[in-house]
Amino acid sequence: MHVAFEVDQSKSAGDQAVPLHNRWHPDNPSASSVKPGDEFRVECREWTDAQLGNNDSSNDVRDVNLDFCHVLSGPIEVEGAEPGDLLVVDILDLGPCQPPQDQGPAPGQGWGYTGVFAKVNGGGFLTDHFPDAYKAIWDFHGQDATSRHIPGVRYTGITHPGLFGTAPSADLLGEWNRREQALIDTDPDRVPPLALPPLEADCLAGNANGDLLKKIAREGARTVPARENGGNHDIKNFTRGSRVYYPVHVPGAKLSGGDLHFSQGDGEITFCGAIEMGGFIDFGVDLIKDGMNKYGVLYNPIFMPGRVEPRYSEFVTFIGVSVDEEGTNHYMNATVAYRRACLNAIEYLKKFGYSGEQAYLLLGSAPIEGRISGIVDIPNSCCSLYLPTAIFDFDVRPNKEGPQSADRGSAAKTS
Ligand code: ZN
Repeated sequence: MHVAFEVDQSKSAGDQAVPLHNRWHPDNPSASSVKPGDEFRVECREWTDAQLGNNDSSNDVRDVNLDFCHVLSGPIEVEGAEPGDLLVVDILDLGPCQPPQDQGPAPGQGWGYTGVFAKVNGGGFLTDHFPDAYKAIWDFHGQDATSRHIPGVRYTGITHPGLFGTAPSADLLGEWNRREQALIDTDPDRVPPLALPPLEADCLAGNANGDLLKKIAREGARTVPARENGGNHDIKNFTRGSRVYYPVHVPGAKLSGGDLHFSQGDGEITFCGAIEMGGFIDFGVDLIKDGMNKYGVLYNPIFMPGRVEPRYSEFVTFIGVSVDEEGTNHYMNATVAYRRACLNAIEYLKKFGYSGEQAYLLLGSAPIEGRISGIVDIPNSCCSLYLPTAIFDFDVRPNKEGPQSADRGSAAKTS
């Protein structure tokens, strides 16, 4: 397999043969070029550039520098791609660093982690309930993961990339910066912030230097949200065999990304809720000329999920409706409803001996299904969270005898 972007896991993102980049910008220099019909490999660093270690303290989660994230591999230029085309991207295979069981200090080298981010540094979906930093380390056993921080659980990962996308045009980038600043301006002092504006500090832009690097640092969009170019979707079903159709906004398309996940639950609720890792991803690419107009794919990518994913068929399912924790009724608010479903699942798992943090970390990383079940029955939207029973080594189903509580250790905490 031709390696279109190479990474040495013993070196940081800025010290690679071709440095990684961490902003979206049309002028990020292309790292290499491929043709429609080509198959090739892209190697990736873990999204924080390995700021987190395989240890039993979450101080590194608390102190992580998010200005530097995500570190992305690419951009890969696709010959002949023009604005208005659809870039067809086959995810042929992906996984942790190879050889697969080779333990090393970088996430992906036989292990990965899930983090709960502190409210003052990133936050998460349940940050008002869990304002501090926590972490779980996961050991990889082929396709399975176990954690010394969440004993009693073993599951098959739903392996996928969190983040791939094409480059924005200058106009599209300007529109992102305009609308996100308008949102920030509604509550500029909020913690966590409403959105992240461009930031010159810690900008990486491949081989760009001088005035070009300054321009990218000044204008480049941060990588946290998904946008019209794809980006940080965190859709767990981008598994092996998936085919993604990305809108093309610049000549050559400029595909880039990273943020590989060994597994993730729907919603990636702890913010760093997946099992984060570095590793490899193999792609095939092709083009549908003028595909954006032909298929009406004008704003966001479409995709066809692959056929390789873990098979879980029995679930305990938790339900939430759009009434918040203080008893206020929210009109058709699916975010509130999903939050309540998650909190209900956490309360349930605590009865088996897990701490709230352990349960939160588990719901972010295990292959749970999250659904918008009802969004028409005024005033309460209804969301549901499907927890697979087979991931536990004890019976997690409700029965007359009551839950089997046990000492189940603890998540990694700050000191
Ligand atoms: Zn991630």
